[in-house]
Amino acid sequence: MLFRRAVVLGGSIAGLMAARVLSDHAEQVLIIDRDDLAGLPPEPAPRPGVPQGSQVHALLPSGINQLQRWFPGFLDEALAAGAVNPPPGTNRFYLDGELRDEPPGDPDAKALISSRPFLEALIRRRVLGRANVRTVRGRAEGLVLDRETVAGVRYDGIEEAADFVVDATGRSSRLSEWIEAHGFAKPEMKRMGIRLNYATALFRRPADPAVWTCISIANPGPGRVARIAGLTPIEGDRWTMLVSGYADDRPGRDPEEYRRRCLTDFPPDFGAVATTAELVGEVNTYHQADSRRREFHRLRRFPARLVAAGDAVASFNPVYGQGMTSAMLHASALSEYLRGEPDLSRPARSYFRDVKVVVDAAWQVSTTADLALPHVDGPYPKGYRAIRWASGLIFKASMRDHRVNQRLGQVTTLLAHPSALAEPRFLVRALAIGARAA
Ligand SMILES: Cc1cc2nc3c(=O)[nH]c(=O)nc-3n(C[C@H](O)[C@H](O)[C@H](O)COP(=O)(O)OP(=O)(O)OC[C@H]3O[C@@H](n4cnc5c(N)ncnc54)[C@H](O)[C@@H]3O)c2cc1C
Repeated sequence: MLFRRAVVLGGSIAGLMAARVLSDHAEQVLIIDRDDLAGLPPEPAPRPGVPQGSQVHALLPSGINQLQRWFPGFLDEALAAGAVNPPPGTNRFYLDGELRDEPPGDPDAKALISSRPFLEALIRRRVLGRANVRTVRGRAEGLVLDRETVAGVRYDGIEEAADFVVDATGRSSRLSEWIEAHGFAKPEMKRMGIRLNYATALFRRPADPAVWTCISIANPGPGRVARIAGLTPIEGDRWTMLVSGYADDRPGRDPEEYRRRCLTDFPPDFGAVATTAELVGEVNTYHQADSRRREFHRLRRFPARLVAAGDAVASFNPVYGQGMTSAMLHASALSEYLRGEPDLSRPARSYFRDVKVVVDAAWQVSTTADLALPHVDGPYPKGYRAIRWASGLIFKASMRDHRVNQRLGQVTTLLAHPSALAEPRFLVRALAIGARAA
């Protein structure tokens, strides 16, 4: 036990995972969220504090590992509660309009497919089920500092004492402004404009459909517009279907327009579901202007007993499905920090260094791909041309070679760091196969 009371601001995926970790180190953990997390209806549903909750959310295998680590038996519990494990061989993957034999990634990887509110509700139940964790409704407004050390938080005009504070209020976090108000410099925010447009709809799923899961990725190219679509089975005998576009390619909320788009812009499976299955509820849209990361690790001065986690540190293009898993890996970094006998009178530098490893990995994967989009104009990393050339060949090789596909899949699902692709023997082999394929 390091603390009497730890406070977590925001009780979504990042906040819940941080609270789980803190419950091993604090006598009391208090989660403050602007939604009433304890009073939500029993049936999982999107809530106002997480507006992206109605959109398709995929959990990467690395995230499943973290859930199993912190909540033993989580996967079985999720499956028993209605999460879906599609029968083998019923997943389809289209690349640039062509059906591929082997989807990217590891075919043996575990899957936990559900709606986002369902997953969050299961995690929340486990976390709030711990005797020393509770939640209160309130809007966090700032920090209380005792010189260079955080001593509490302010919410709804109330001051709450705290021995340790985690900011998990998401991509619009005000933590930078809060520390600035106490005389600290703000972390630099790096952004990549992506102008992503999502539209998600739910459809009734028959008991034994021919296709359970379908992903379509169209890369920009001659006569081709960059578009991603996904169809995944979720709890309650439903599918959730996403169609996306970039910049001015913006799917709307009109169900007729949605169906038309599925028929004309995506492979036939999407049109078939959209026109034959029953639409449940409305079409929900979401626009994300940028990917962003806050460079906390660079700050020379930062309050002690304070960290940030999840989207409050970095939020990526969601089509790569990295956000929830990254938040879970941040919780792992928090555990590492707290178990390492930290000097709590100093900023949590080793925590932010570990978080940077996770953020760099996810950022590298998603921004390298996004920089190929015609409307994305930087910032370009050092050596971008070489990275782009090599990653293009590795991707081509992954379509032909099982081992390359498996390793690339581990990197894109955050099971391995991108540096695993630069391991010399692997790289030479992958480039050779990719060059032959090209
Ligand atoms: C369209 C879209 C699709 C996505 N798809 C995927 C996907 O497929 N896979 C994936 O892994 N990730 C996906 N993500 C990302 C994912 O939603 C987040 O990364 C994930 O929820 C972790 O976020 P978080 O917990 O840090 O913040 P959030 O989920 O944004 O939660 C922030 C929490 O803080 C609370 N809060 C905010 N401000 C305050 C305040 N002042 N006081 C008190 N409480 C406050 C909110 O109520 C909320 O509970 C997607 C995101 C978007 C936008």
